Amino acid sequence: MATSHKRISVTQATLPPFDEYIEEIKPLWESHWITNMGEKHHEFELMLKEYLNAENISLYTNGHSALEGILEALQLGADGKKNVITTPYTFASTTHAIVRKGLNPVFADINETTFTIDPSSIEELITDDTCAILPVHVYGNPCDVESIQQIADKHGLKVIYDAAHAFGVKWKGESIIRFGDASILSFHATKVFNSIEGGAVCFADTDLEKPLNQWKNFGITGPESVEYIGGNAKLNEFSAAMGICNLRHIEESIAKRKKIFEAYFENLNEVPGIRVFKFPQDAKPNYSYMPILLDEEYVLTRNELFSILAENSILTRKYFFPLVTDYACYKDKFSSSNTPVAKKVADNILTLPMYPDLPLDEVDRICKLIKNPRS
Ligand SMILES: *Cc1c(COP(=O)(O)O)cnc(C)c1O
Repeated sequence: MATSHKRISVTQATLPPFDEYIEEIKPLWESHWITNMGEKHHEFELMLKEYLNAENISLYTNGHSALEGILEALQLGADGKKNVITTPYTFASTTHAIVRKGLNPVFADINETTFTIDPSSIEELITDDTCAILPVHVYGNPCDVESIQQIADKHGLKVIYDAAHAFGVKWKGESIIRFGDASILSFHATKVFNSIEGGAVCFADTDLEKPLNQWKNFGITGPESVEYIGGNAKLNEFSAAMGICNLRHIEESIAKRKKIFEAYFENLNEVPGIRVFKFPQDAKPNYSYMPILLDEEYVLTRNELFSILAENSILTRKYFFPLVTDYACYKDKFSSSNTPVAKKVADNILTLPMYPDLPLDEVDRICKLIKNPRS
């Protein structure tokens, strides 16, 4: 067993130079204003708005609360229509947000090449109870935004994208967050871009600004007035400062990821039974994850490969496995057999280590093992 190597994690949080962060937080010792929409919060919001070409943006304490915030601000379900069409091939957050807001998730299947929601399986699920579509740009891969919008327009539905994986992604030259009524982003430590924890809603309708900003601060609308039953989801100044620093280096960080992706691609593309995930031509990707899909032609099962890599100190993830519909908290209500493509992908997917400082010789070592796992 080759355990002499350093342990390689599936991801590693990106940090700015230490001194740069210290410079950034110094003013906080003057102002003592460390949360509640201070100077750093304001500056971070403006920088993001420009970088993402967002019409409007509201920062949140994390991606999940941003998602709950926009579902609340759009008042989905208030007219009795409570069904939200979404994908089971995602992280727990997407479905939990829908359910926690008193709405019903309705699961459409995914496309077998892109792993994003399949527009042709959306329409047959629409009923008089449907209020919205909530797709996910899985691994930063843009959904079929044009077809989804067409369906939404035809049936008068809102479209909210879970863009937690898609920071900085473009589709046909346009920022991915410009599609649909709103998109949520996550700035969690494990994502392409982080503010330690953090998130945002990017949205088209300026009227949503007030409810979104007030919802994250207990619904407080003035010194002596509270108009909404809001929660607390404010991004603090230390997180905003981390976001400001990391944003200065984002292009460099994505460029490093691209090199790693290309090294993996070159090594693994021709291996029988392995499909390396490819981004569509019209997308500017962010290389957030490194998923490979195995089929019967490969010499091992997904779980066997996972174990062999782990024995060699290479930590991968079965991301996304299990499907949301197979979670203990959902399996009695939903069936993963209704979404056979998603089920198959979940059973055969493996995401490999991917982060900007992953050395290229480690990528080669990982690929050698995948090519000859029993050597
Ligand atoms: C990370 C993630 C979220 C939640 O973001 P947090 O910032 O961790 O709350 C939501 N959806 C998807 C698909 C994610 O990967």
